[in-house]
Amino acid sequence: MTDESEMSGVPAKRAPKPSPTHIGNHKLDAATLMMGYGFDPTLSEGSLKPPIFLTSTFVFENAAAGKRFFEGVTGKRPGGAEGLIYSRFNGPNQEILEDRLALWEDAEDALAFSSGMSAIATLLLTFVKPGDVVVHSGPLYAATETLIAKILGKFGVTWLDFPSGSTREEIDAVIAAAKAKGRVAMIYLESPANPTNALVDVEAVRAARDAAFSGDERPPIAIDNTFLGPLWAKPLAQGADVSVYSLTKYAGGHSDLVAGGLVGSKAVLDPVRMMRNTIGTICDPNTAWMLLRSLETLELRMSRAGENAAKVCEYLRSHAKVESVGYLGFLEDGSRQADIYRRHCTGAGSTFSLYLKGGEKEAFAFLDNLQIAHLAVSLGGTETLASAPAAMTHLSVPDERKQALGITDNLVRISIGVENAEDLIADFENALRAV
Ligand SMILES: *Cc1c(COP(=O)(O)O)cnc(C)c1O
Repeated sequence: MTDESEMSGVPAKRAPKPSPTHIGNHKLDAATLMMGYGFDPTLSEGSLKPPIFLTSTFVFENAAAGKRFFEGVTGKRPGGAEGLIYSRFNGPNQEILEDRLALWEDAEDALAFSSGMSAIATLLLTFVKPGDVVVHSGPLYAATETLIAKILGKFGVTWLDFPSGSTREEIDAVIAAAKAKGRVAMIYLESPANPTNALVDVEAVRAARDAAFSGDERPPIAIDNTFLGPLWAKPLAQGADVSVYSLTKYAGGHSDLVAGGLVGSKAVLDPVRMMRNTIGTICDPNTAWMLLRSLETLELRMSRAGENAAKVCEYLRSHAKVESVGYLGFLEDGSRQADIYRRHCTGAGSTFSLYLKGGEKEAFAFLDNLQIAHLAVSLGGTETLASAPAAMTHLSVPDERKQALGITDNLVRISIGVENAEDLIADFENALRAV
């Protein structure tokens, strides 16, 4: 006789035993909670680890329960689904993953997706309609720019951008211009930008948004936090509404899966969940399970990769064949970027830009002589990767824009992994000798 559901003849849901988040007043760290949070072994034969739930659908205890679950999932009744229905909507592995993802940014809610791009596409599709404007920082991940400009453009959505490092005044001006064009549906950020490494001042964007819009007009602020999150940057704390992740990168961390995530307020994520239910962009149970394993070592992996990157960058910056190193740990004291870094970040990450003296010939000689680092695009894995953006990821970017973004032929993008730092330095030293 405890709640409405028992009165309506719906058996009480077999809810997992709540996982502790505190011991007394002591709040447990996300790194600790990754080992068991949100999973109750007594619901799975005592299994210490969650099984992979390979099923397309879930059995209701009775018809009234089925009706009630559908009322929740379709939004007829607030509060969301009370039980599992069908695997396009959700499953046990994905639910545990979502609960754990939210912990890293102290967020109300999280959603898991089949890729970073399907997370971004589902998010944007939820909020835009014909005639709307998307305001974004630039540059963005290339596929995100394509999605906004070319794909949403087909449906009458337009966009305006400001450079990542913009000041409050510059952001204000772009928002004002966007308001003159149409309804602003979303402010979409990415920080740091690739490959410029320019950080976005999320606090300034939040202040600009709040000054320019009131009440329901207020567009949500989303930010792609793939490069520094969730360990080194937590942009929800600076006023973003949604943090966007390609979980393929640091969160997955072993270069063996593709997935995405959104972390943020329930108010913003509830309608995104409805969109995901409709179009089916959720990740599969096996990938969710692999991510649960990955998250257990997230802090260890990212910390080690970050320490390695600091040592490698220190070595590279003074090498005679190196022009410069674009690494967040080397921001000039007193600069505006250093001020944003101090307010927003707790670490410099492990992905950076190496500019060699010379051009494509030198960059290729360096890449072709690496023995530990692999020549591949992507980032955030346990292994070190290196690539040449001008010839690879950004090959189709027009020359003028390449110049503006510093995507020159002598640029090598490097993502440092968890190997021994001295071994990596030996590898780079040897490859530089061949340049
Ligand atoms: C890789 C990446 C994406 C896209 O993620 P996928 O998982 O490949 O779909 C989006 N944003 C950034 C910053 C990325 O690095």
